[in-house]
Amino acid sequence: MAEPFKCPKCGSNDYTIVLTGCNVSGATLQESFGWNAESGEYESAGTVILDSESVENDGGQAICSGCETDVSDAVAAYETAHGA
Ligand SMILES: [Zn+2]
Repeated sequence: MAEPFKCPKCGSNDYTIVLTGCNVSGATLQESFGWNAESGEYESAGTVILDSESVENDGGQAICSGCETDVSDAVAAYETAHGA
């Protein structure tokens, strides 16, 4: 079994990557809408790419799911060490 990524700050194994300036082809996208009774409008957290043939991006940022720290460097080091 491979070692999971671990946030250097809080020890969480979960993280989210946000890619910017993407050039995506053959993608399947998903956007979920939740009704907000207070504002009387549907709210969306944004579009999620479920699958794609290829993604080219200008930059990206990894955010820890536990403490919301920018863990980009730690994730890059983890991916390098584990050949992901
Ligand atoms: Zn964390």
